[in-house]
Amino acid sequence: MSKRTKWDTKGDLDESKNLPIYQHKATLQQAVKDNSFLVVTGETGSGKTTQLPQYLHQAGFWSNGKIGITQPRRVAAITVAQRVSQEMHCSLGREVGYQVRFDDCTTQDTVVKYMTDGCLLREILADPVLSQYSVVILDEAHERSLNTDILLGLLKQTLSSPDKASKGRSVPLKVVVMSATLETDKLSVFLGGCPVFTIPGRTFPVTSKFSCAIGPKDTESSVYIKEVVKVALDVHTSEMAGDILVFLTGQSEIEKACDMLYEKAESIDYRYDVQDHKVEGLLILPLYGSMPTDQQKQIFQPPPPGIRKCVVATNIAATSLTINGIKYIVDSGFVKQLNHNSRVGMDILEVVPISKSEALQRAGRAGRTSAGKCFRIYSPAFWEKCMPEYTVPEIQRTSLTAVILTLKCLGVHDVIRFPYLDRPEERFILEALKQLYQCDAIDRRGKVTRLGELMVEFPLPPGLTRALLQAASLGCEDLLLPVAAMLSVENIFIRPGHPEKQKEADKKHRQLGVQAGSCNDFTMLLSVFEKCKASDAPSAWCKDNYIHWRALKSAFSVETQLREILLRLQKRDFPMEKFDGNKSELFRRCLCTGYFTNVARRSVGKVFCTMDGHGSMVHIHPSSTLFDQEAQLDWVIFHDLLVTSRIYIRTVCPIRYDWVKDLLPKLHEVDVYELSSVAREEVTDEEVAKWMTKETAKRQTEGSAEAV
Ligand code: ADP
Ligand code: MG
Repeated sequence: MSKRTKWDTKGDLDESKNLPIYQHKATLQQAVKDNSFLVVTGETGSGKTTQLPQYLHQAGFWSNGKIGITQPRRVAAITVAQRVSQEMHCSLGREVGYQVRFDDCTTQDTVVKYMTDGCLLREILADPVLSQYSVVILDEAHERSLNTDILLGLLKQTLSSPDKASKGRSVPLKVVVMSATLETDKLSVFLGGCPVFTIPGRTFPVTSKFSCAIGPKDTESSVYIKEVVKVALDVHTSEMAGDILVFLTGQSEIEKACDMLYEKAESIDYRYDVQDHKVEGLLILPLYGSMPTDQQKQIFQPPPPGIRKCVVATNIAATSLTINGIKYIVDSGFVKQLNHNSRVGMDILEVVPISKSEALQRAGRAGRTSAGKCFRIYSPAFWEKCMPEYTVPEIQRTSLTAVILTLKCLGVHDVIRFPYLDRPEERFILEALKQLYQCDAIDRRGKVTRLGELMVEFPLPPGLTRALLQAASLGCEDLLLPVAAMLSVENIFIRPGHPEKQKEADKKHRQLGVQAGSCNDFTMLLSVFEKCKASDAPSAWCKDNYIHWRALKSAFSVETQLREILLRLQKRDFPMEKFDGNKSELFRRCLCTGYFTNVARRSVGKVFCTMDGHGSMVHIHPSSTLFDQEAQLDWVIFHDLLVTSRIYIRTVCPIRYDWVKDLLPKLHEVDVYELSSVAREEVTDEEVAKWMTKETAKRQTEGSAEAV
């Protein structure tokens, strides 16, 4: 029997008394009372995330303000809040609630609030001393997410200046930093030598086996998907009872693997094929970020007797969520990660080998309650040659544009000397300043402009925000708000696995594009949004057109929320401009204001060349409505890039050179040192000279060439 249907088994809520953290309840409550900063560490699954907030609630902290807990991942914030609301016998959103981007499930009554680290950062913007909170817990600090790292620096700065910290607060804020057992000394030193509380926990041995399937050259997703499926089935048939956790990279890979597993598991004959006769079936469950929450709940429920559970998950199951009963790990060796790609000068979500420390963490998930086994589908050579020792913190590998704007808006003018736990390379900071300057968020001296103050209010990427604000100032926000919303939700177009169905879906999508009039990917998004909204039966309309109804529903909600933010800002003095021209041009020109950094020009055949100084050769992605029409195009802008063996541009719109002509010089004519004026004292002449050669010298030679 293979199962992937709903299974209702009540989770055992009393189990919390058996968690390692339980014996330290009183000590922890006291430690938080006694210290402004406290680091709490313990093995994953010891009960930090679900229990400590409840202990602090019981100790009465809520009477001085909310207990806030941050999570780097959205799903973790939601799932854990659900669990804790059950444990505290209240409905979600009352005493216990959560807030993630575009989804606020809290009320006046909420005193234990789980949220993403990005949300708390936004709250600090409105209320720098966090006057609504008595305790803030920064959870999963070892993940080293960009926002958590920035929060650490900000809270350190605030609390270390008593004047600032007590302003607008009746009692001092308490900060707890929670982390798996990595880097806790470093955290304590960073926070002024604060105490570290270690929850002692027992772990059981896990034996790890390498395989020869994946070597240093095998990075094709089809290869590792096939391999994890094969290994998971081997485990199922040849190992004793116990659940399996498979680590894969992302939603589409996970769905593919689950389909393959399901199909293959169907043909197992449990009388002959399975070693352990107590095992009578396989329950296959996917787990990834954008999954509906009711499906996520099933992950935690114990499987019915005789059934082995096999969870196929992203890295979220490595530390953020603990699933009980896991005895076997199948590790693909890969993770999907946002990295700054210097080849194209942008952040790109890419599949990369995990680090060795990550691999150990993954394996450890099999040894929580008894000895376990970890099956690595990669070879020792892959381990040696491809896997770094540690994962590089996000702050050192992604774009800093949004956080630097936040810091500037918080009055941290000197962004170079901000207390970073790990300092990002200066060129990344300078790059962020340059981008902020290019979209008019800061002025030449690095000061936040009026526009920058407006931009920081939107939880969107800076370019998109800039385009939206431009549209609003021209009175055509109705064109851009739906587009911004559609770009903020998961993919809306369904791509069926079956080739015939795929053809039909492509045809439907193309028709939607044609109906959109001036055909480009942005108007396509607008058209889908408007048509679905106007439909009497929107979910049927979606089904008929191969559109994800769930994604569209979120887009409707996101649009409303973005509109609310805009309305609030428009009540203050909001810049207004006039435009005479047609609507299609207006729309595309607004996009240009935000996306002129993502401009490309067709060079030969189907190849385009970007204009941002990187001069990358790019192709239009096959999912674009403009695919195969390249010959008719000249200049285009695009929303993002996908790098495989080629570089693809996605969500594309044709433009006229005239519209970006005056903006393009901004891509090159920036004196980054002027922007970071405060940093000037810190840099050596040598470093200045390095930049001189890169930036200024280029301009100087261009200037002299013109003179000749
Ligand atoms: P830590 O933060 O120390 O890693 P957690 O507090 O996340 O530990 O987990 C403690 C226990 O709570 C684990 O046994 C885990 O399986 C359980 N748990 C957490 N979330 C849920 C949930 N949504 N449903 C059922 N059990 C859960
Ligand atoms: Mg945790």
